[in-house]
Amino acid sequence: MVEQEMYRRAMVVVAHADDAEFGCSGTVALWARQGAEVIYVICTDGSKGSGDPEMTSSRLVEIRRQEQLDAARVLGVKEVVFLGYEDAILQPTLELRRDICRQIRRYKPQVLICMSPVRDLESASYLGHPDHFASAEAALSAVFPAARDRLTFPELMEEGLEPHKVEEVLVMSRTNPNKWIDVTDTLDIAMEAIKCHRSQVNPEDVGNFLRGWREEMGKERGMKYAEAFRHFQLR
Ligand SMILES: [Zn+2]
Repeated sequence: MVEQEMYRRAMVVVAHADDAEFGCSGTVALWARQGAEVIYVICTDGSKGSGDPEMTSSRLVEIRRQEQLDAARVLGVKEVVFLGYEDAILQPTLELRRDICRQIRRYKPQVLICMSPVRDLESASYLGHPDHFASAEAALSAVFPAARDRLTFPELMEEGLEPHKVEEVLVMSRTNPNKWIDVTDTLDIAMEAIKCHRSQVNPEDVGNFLRGWREEMGKERGMKYAEAFRHFQLR
């Protein structure tokens, strides 16, 4: 374990309940184990993620909220913030940017993980979800420059939220990574966490899939299992 990679506080911004468990849960569990306070910010209410004709949006919102809280507890996440935007139609608006900026200024993370803001045209099988791109674009724009600049979103200053500079950003990326985090020691916890999202996943299938890509990412770097990111050290 590399000591200098220990963080006091980290924030993960994603579009949906379950996105963090899919993309970075081994890292989250690792950081939590090393003593970091990890804060989740979930942008949407998850109200569209069901093909069950008996399911209603309001019931789904409650189910997915609880699933996310359960998964967070498994990983050792300290706090989960739900921004409550409507699922499936998320946009990278100034309002979303401000709402993420508010959480950055409130919790003051050193490092922030988000999804990729761009559609991956290399993939031959997955188009990517527009909410993911929107959440990432808003999160990156909230980090820089909005969270740093006191004159941006003056209403946040009125709420007593001082500017904050995030030092590092990790964008979840398997196609263009420059940082690999060894999650061999926390893979089992990560697999437990994804199983909490019972309304979204078949535990067996998803376990194999998630283990598989982490194995593939690790192989290139001499690690058994790794999660891959595009890393930014901000100045
Ligand atoms: Zn998602």
